[in-house]
Amino acid sequence: MSAHPHLPPYRYCPVCGAALDRAEPLRQPCTRCDFIFYHSSSPCMGALPLDGSRVLLARRGIEPYLGSWNTVGGFLGYGEEPLEGLQREVLEETGCACRVLDFITQNADVYGSGGTALLNTYYSVELLPGDLAPQDDVSELRWFDIDELPDDIAFACDRRALEVLRTRLQAHRPG
Ligand SMILES: [Zn+2]
Repeated sequence: MSAHPHLPPYRYCPVCGAALDRAEPLRQPCTRCDFIFYHSSSPCMGALPLDGSRVLLARRGIEPYLGSWNTVGGFLGYGEEPLEGLQREVLEETGCACRVLDFITQNADVYGSGGTALLNTYYSVELLPGDLAPQDDVSELRWFDIDELPDDIAFACDRRALEVLRTRLQAHRPG
């Protein structure tokens, strides 16, 4: 499913202030200068901290979906290396550094109703010893068994990633 465009076409060139062509919503050339506004998904990194068959989720302390659960992670900075951004987000939200384990999956979603299109890339991680405590835009951290996840997980991309993780963990379960 395509995740984009609740986004209305932009009106004015951010370089020179002239009108942008609005014929194509995702590629808008300026009518005066050489600038072209390409709309694209915002890259995000999702961390899935593991402890055996348990995964750490974060309760959202901000809108959208205030109070719902989501994965630890967030938007990459401009030009930021993906795995550095992943580790930065884990540290910011949990207070713990982490070791990156495995690529899990990548999928598209939208940030909130009418929000920006995003592209989320998920890795499993191992938290390093530290004082685990919710920080930044997180109100609570809790370990969930992969077979007993909460119902109110905010984003479809997170739900799909957790399903991939569950399949992965079951395949590697001893016995
Ligand atoms: Zn322009």
